[in-house]
Amino acid sequence: MREITYAELRDRFAPCALHETGEGYAPVPVSERLAQAIWFDQRLQREKLQTADGQRVRVVSPGWWNLEAGPDFRRAVIAFEDGAPQLGDVEVHLRANDWHQHGHDGDPLYNNVLLHVALWHSGGERPATTANGRAISRLVMSDQLDAPLEQLYDSIEPADYPYDLDSHVGRCEARLRTLPAETVVALLDEAGLDRLRAKARRMTRWIQRHGVEQALYAGVMEALGYKHNKEPMRLLAARLPVARLRELPATQAQAFLLGVAGFLPERTVAASDAATRRHVKALWEVWWKARDEFEGKTLVRDVWRMAGLRPANFPWRRLAAVAQLLATHWELWPKIESALTAKREAQRAARLEALFADVEDPYWSRRYSFASKSQPKAERLIGEARARDIVINVVLPVAIAQAKLLERPALAEAAEKIFVSYPATEPNALARFTAHRLFGQRPPRGIRTAARQQGLLQIFHDFCLSDRSGCAQCRFPELVAQFAARE
Ligand code: SF4
Repeated sequence: MREITYAELRDRFAPCALHETGEGYAPVPVSERLAQAIWFDQRLQREKLQTADGQRVRVVSPGWWNLEAGPDFRRAVIAFEDGAPQLGDVEVHLRANDWHQHGHDGDPLYNNVLLHVALWHSGGERPATTANGRAISRLVMSDQLDAPLEQLYDSIEPADYPYDLDSHVGRCEARLRTLPAETVVALLDEAGLDRLRAKARRMTRWIQRHGVEQALYAGVMEALGYKHNKEPMRLLAARLPVARLRELPATQAQAFLLGVAGFLPERTVAASDAATRRHVKALWEVWWKARDEFEGKTLVRDVWRMAGLRPANFPWRRLAAVAQLLATHWELWPKIESALTAKREAQRAARLEALFADVEDPYWSRRYSFASKSQPKAERLIGEARARDIVINVVLPVAIAQAKLLERPALAEAAEKIFVSYPATEPNALARFTAHRLFGQRPPRGIRTAARQQGLLQIFHDFCLSDRSGCAQCRFPELVAQFAARE
């Protein structure tokens, strides 16, 4: 029997519309990514663009290509008829009925969609609506393209999108390109320090209200929530303050944290092995006596987002790490202070990072959940990259805030020094997006430090986020010119 080829399987399983569109013959295989690229590049007859129900459309900005969950493009700026430009998301599909097929009509992540873009009209009789019942305008691209589809197919390489391109850079890129690399990195360093000091001001308020240990604990909890579970971790830190966990052995602290988080399995659940049975029993022995105290404060399971999480990052592992951390150093500030004042400057950052990266737990270091088997190899509860994020985003801002409150400028200086020389972590989607807008494919040498990465995020928040003009009215290029003149 003839073996089926990869190409045949790809055509069967990959999200391609191969030739048969339901509306006739498409001469080339078209993927959703190509449709997204057509929208991103606005390969449309822009002057006479119309929605399916005949409204005139003016696209000021197609939006930012979103690589995370949710709509394909964020913060597009679009005007309908003669109305003012509106800010919202855009979702792009091959066929109009994909909106319903993909379940976006029931998904609140799509509530902010302003325009549904489909390459073809198939199934377009059914209007697109959001989970909160709002009707969304639809734009069908196939009869409004600026060139035949085959020609677009030949000229667009979907794999290059969104960042391996020289296009889609911001207006500031041309100005930044003319500057020496040292000036650009100096600008990023200053923007990064500005961000660090703003975080320190926020931490000052936390410390004044709740004390330095609670500020550190809440900050670490939030950072361990990463992007999906920041909010429940923050809530948990407020409902179960660090003072309640103080001086508890790790198992007791873990029982409190997992209990209030809503993660303790029912005692009756059949455990998979003896170690799990023993561990669950030990946790329940603590929790059943304490749970009345947290009546009405326990989180419901639904507030936690598990979709897309790697098992190693499951929140119960993170909470076990916090329990161990507090049991080992029930006061974190003296340890941080000692690391910041270590004689050998080169060791300061490593000592701060080790506080978090070296945390182990006899049960959770080898488990992903109560139902999982014990793994042959222990896996860190807090990986190096996360430990570094905690140092950059929590420890250093708290240290600067506390140093100011204690009137110890040398401590704040030591924290800032670590910050500017710290290597960068893996850039998040916003840092990558901003780097591309500012520098295209030619970032300046030396950009990969934590301070410069934070500088990119600060510029994003200060300028890109508030821009509704597709860069036209953004004043960052002027700032760049003045900064360069100052140097
Ligand atoms: S909005 Fe401003 S800072 Fe952002 S890319 Fe455009 S010109 Fe640059």
